[in-house]
Amino acid sequence: MLNDRHRFWSNLSRVFSGQKTWVSYASEDANDFFPKLNPGVLSPAIILYREDEIQALRDSDYYYARDYSVWKDLSLVLNNLKILENMNVKTKIKDLVNDLFDQVVTFRRHIHQWPELSFEESETARYVCSILDSFGIGYAANIGGHGIVALIQGELPGESVVALRGDMDALPIQEENTTPYRSKKEGIMHACGHDVHTSSLLGAAIVLQQLKAGFGGTVKCIFQPAEEKLPGGASLMIKDKALENPTPSVIFGQHVHPPLQVGKVGVKGGMYMASTDELYLTVKGRGGHAALPQDLIDPVMITANILVALQQVVSRHGDPTIPTVLSFGKIHSTGGSTNVIPGEVKLEGTFRTMDEPWRKKAHDHMLQICNSVAEAHGGRAELTIMHGYPYLLNDDQLTDRFRINAIEYLGAENVVDLPIRMTGEDFAYYSQIMPACFYRLGTGNPEKGITSPIHTATFDVDEECLKVGVGVMVFSALCELGRMSS
Ligand SMILES: [Zn+2]
Ligand SMILES: [Zn+2]
Repeated sequence: MLNDRHRFWSNLSRVFSGQKTWVSYASEDANDFFPKLNPGVLSPAIILYREDEIQALRDSDYYYARDYSVWKDLSLVLNNLKILENMNVKTKIKDLVNDLFDQVVTFRRHIHQWPELSFEESETARYVCSILDSFGIGYAANIGGHGIVALIQGELPGESVVALRGDMDALPIQEENTTPYRSKKEGIMHACGHDVHTSSLLGAAIVLQQLKAGFGGTVKCIFQPAEEKLPGGASLMIKDKALENPTPSVIFGQHVHPPLQVGKVGVKGGMYMASTDELYLTVKGRGGHAALPQDLIDPVMITANILVALQQVVSRHGDPTIPTVLSFGKIHSTGGSTNVIPGEVKLEGTFRTMDEPWRKKAHDHMLQICNSVAEAHGGRAELTIMHGYPYLLNDDQLTDRFRINAIEYLGAENVVDLPIRMTGEDFAYYSQIMPACFYRLGTGNPEKGITSPIHTATFDVDEECLKVGVGVMVFSALCELGRMSS
C-alpha cells in the first residue's frame, strides 16, 4: 500500500514539474501496456503516459480510456488515484476478512458463551490476550482493571497513531435464546453485543498485523472493560494512561444496532449520545391521618409539586436547541394507604443532555427547585445526583471522513445517517478529550428472525455483521493513517 503511495507521490512530482504527462494506475506487469482497471484484479503501480500513448488508449475500446480526458485536472487526477489506491487496499482487506471470518465467529461465540459482568472480565481478558499472543501481537494487560491495550505498528515509516476501541462486559440478564452458543452462565448474558465488539476488534488487530508491511504508523487497539456500569471502564483506562505512549490522534468505536440491517453501518456527526446522570430524591414531611391534612406535612403533595417544577428546568432554563430529557421512573412512599399520608416519598430518575456546561447548570437548578419547593410547603428534600457518563460528541470532520470511507468500503446504500440517541455510552469519555467517532454496526436480520433489541433476553446478531465489524474498522484506521502521513 504505502509502496504504491511512494510511487504515487514520486510520479506525481513529475506532473508538478510541468511535464506534459498523464497519470494512471496500471498493471505492475511492464509488458502490459493497457491498464487493468478492474478493481478486482488491480495490481497497482503508477505509470505516467505521454500524450501519444493516451491517444492510443483513447482509440482503444477499453472502458476506462474514455475517462482519461477528464484527468487533465490535477485534483481529479489525485482524486481518481486515491479512489483506485483505496480500491486496492479495500480488496486486500476484504480478502483477509473473509479468510479470517470463521475464526472471528469462533471468538465471538466463545466470548458469548462465557459472559462476565462489568469489572469482572478476567477470563474474557485472558482469552483476548491468548488470541493476541497466538498472532504475535504485542499488548499491555490490566490497564484500568481488566483492560488491554494492543499495538500494531506498521513497518513503513510513520508516527501517526489511530485508536480502535471495543468493550468486553456483559449484563445481568438470563439468556432465553436456544442457540448452541448461548450463555453458559446463569443470569449473565452478552445482551449488548460487547462480544461482537471484542471479537471484531480482535479480527481487526489480526488483519492489521497481516497488513503491517504495507502501512506506516500505529494502530492502538483498546479492549475495554466495564462499559455498562459507573464509573465506566473508559474513564478508568484513560486514568491508567491507555491513551498515552503513544497518544492516538483519533479514536473509533462501534456498537451493534439490531434495527439496522446486517451489512450496513450508521453514523451521525456532532452531538450523538446523552450524558446520563442518576437522580435519587427523598421528600420528607410529617405523616398521619389522611383526613387531617391540616395537622400534617404531606410529602406526596410536595413531590407532585417538585415533579412539575422540575420539568420546567428542562422547558424554561434549557436552551431548546440542546436535547434534554428528565424522567422519573420510580416513585414510592414509605408507608401510606388510602387513609394514611406517609412521612416520606422516594423517587429515582434520570437526567440526560448533550452539553457539559448546561448539564452542570441544570444540576444546580434541580437542587435549588427541590429544596425551595419542599421548604415552601414545610417539608424537606434531599436530591442526590450520581454523575454518569458525559455526552458523546462525534467529531464532525472525523465522522465525515468515516462516512466517506465507509461508503467506499460498503457502498453508499449501506451507510445510513442516524438520529441523536438519548441513551448513554462510556465511549463519551474518549470523545471529550480527542476527536472520536462512534458508529453503529447493523446486526439485525428480520428474515432470519433476528430483531430483538439490545438489553433483552432474546437479543442476538446475524454473525455476518462480523465481516463489516472487522473490515470497516481496519479500512477506517488505515485511511486515517494514510491521511495523516500524506
Ligand atoms: Zn448496554
Ligand atoms: Zn453496549
